[in-house]
Amino acid sequence: MLYGENGEVAGVATGDMGVGKDGAPKDSFTRGMELRAKYTLFGEGARGQLSKTLIARFGLDRGREPQKFGLGIKELWQVAPERHRPGLVQHTFGWPLSDRTGGGSFLYHFDKDFVSVGFVVHLNYANPYLSPFEEFQRFKTHPLVRDTFAGGKRIGYGARAISEGGWQSVPNLAFPGGALIGDGAGFLNVPRIKGTHNAMQSGMLAAEHVAVALVTGRANDTLTDYEASWRGSPIGRDLWPVRNAKPLWSKLGTVLGIGLGGLDMWANTLRIPLFGTLGHGKPDAACLKPAARCRRISYPKPDGKLTFDRLSSVFLSNTNHEEIQPVHLVVADAGLQKRSELEVFGGPSTRYCPAGVYEWIGESDPRYVINAQNCVHCKTCDIKDPNGNITWVAPEGGGGPNYQNM
Ligand code: SF4
Repeated sequence: MLYGENGEVAGVATGDMGVGKDGAPKDSFTRGMELRAKYTLFGEGARGQLSKTLIARFGLDRGREPQKFGLGIKELWQVAPERHRPGLVQHTFGWPLSDRTGGGSFLYHFDKDFVSVGFVVHLNYANPYLSPFEEFQRFKTHPLVRDTFAGGKRIGYGARAISEGGWQSVPNLAFPGGALIGDGAGFLNVPRIKGTHNAMQSGMLAAEHVAVALVTGRANDTLTDYEASWRGSPIGRDLWPVRNAKPLWSKLGTVLGIGLGGLDMWANTLRIPLFGTLGHGKPDAACLKPAARCRRISYPKPDGKLTFDRLSSVFLSNTNHEEIQPVHLVVADAGLQKRSELEVFGGPSTRYCPAGVYEWIGESDPRYVINAQNCVHCKTCDIKDPNGNITWVAPEGGGGPNYQNM
């Protein structure tokens, strides 16, 4: 991030290349470039690294509900031709999750015998023994869907956090010198599992306000009209009627919460706000309970045909990072990680990470190992670590997953 003399955002700098593990320059060192602008729009997706910094620096979340997130894990399959039903869409809630854990699946048959299947787990789950990856693997064994994959081949894998807070969690979008757009602000419509339309709309809306500012000779000030206009725009009209779906689901569980959420959405389309606007409660990181108060979950072993382990999955994400570079998953306090993440919460990072990046190794004096080269950049560790002790920062260059047809 580049700041001007008065603290306004003045642009961004690309990362330095050719930095060693210890932070010292290597022979290949190349300094990043400064990109200076009158206004900078940040569209980094959910839990953007720079957006997070901006929200904290300018207090953009003051008076708003905490942002909520889900972790979506997805596989791409080429199924047997006789199992392919082009255009078929299946959505489910619940199983194999308990009633108190939010989430559900999607399954789309599209062209060339391709099937896209995925599972979203809401990151406000409480049991640190839960593994979103294993829940997804279990989901595929349900009689409703398992036959789809018989004789097929898994060809792609990926994972990404999505923003689920909606209307009441969107931070103030504008600050001196720029604005937030897209899922970095959190425009996903949870019941529709869809945010691309609003991300595009927010980019267009922000661009219109930047254009007006530039024409009148302004620069690096606050685009207050952009912040003031989105709730009355198509984005606001899309998010307002569904604003209670996620809080009701979280508070009342899947069966009752979804039922009442549906009723509330229907009432809102008739302009009858049954429940007003409900809050979300705690941030996702604060929802974990100490391991001692939770039951252990044992997941079945993968069969290598329908269900898989994490490492063979990461292989299909074409993830690649420059090996000699500073670790891009920054643990602020190693002692806290051991005292709390491991000893109190039972090491949830070893389960919530869909790429097997985190391991506690050793019995008597466990050591925290970070296999950063496997990271698929889903941002879950930055969101769900119980102490906010892990920060995801962009690795060198274009390192990360290289999704094909995902
Ligand atoms: S290390 Fe963090 S960002 Fe990377 S895949 Fe694991 S949870 Fe996601």
